[in-house]
Amino acid sequence: MHELSIMQALFEQLQGIAREYGARRVLKFRVEVGPLSNVVPELLYDAFMAFRAAEPLLEKAEMDLIRVPLRLRCADCGEVTEPQGFRMVCGSCGSKRVEVVQGEDLLLRDVELEIPEEALNEQNSES
Ligand SMILES: [Zn+2]
Repeated sequence: MHELSIMQALFEQLQGIAREYGARRVLKFRVEVGPLSNVVPELLYDAFMAFRAAEPLLEKAEMDLIRVPLRLRCADCGEVTEPQGFRMVCGSCGSKRVEVVQGEDLLLRDVELEIPEEALNEQNSES
């Protein structure tokens, strides 16, 4: 189950963000899962629940898992289209000279943190 190692990587990213902002806990975060990322959202969710039970940083966290569609940019007509199924052709002109602009990755977005007041004051006085 490679979702556990993916969750481990996400957790390390979250730890880094929390450290950067002096946050005590992660409250919420969003993960965008593309169809080519080979991630099974249900398994990733199970892995998240295991981390949540074990890691104080995540004890109040909620994870939003969003499935994002595959998007292709066409080298011939320049259009960005969402293909039907997994056919790697431009939805506008039918060209096969396309590159994937969305859908290959798993992306961490919109992280909400619980930041203690001391840490906030410190940031304010720095700026
Ligand atoms: Zn095209």
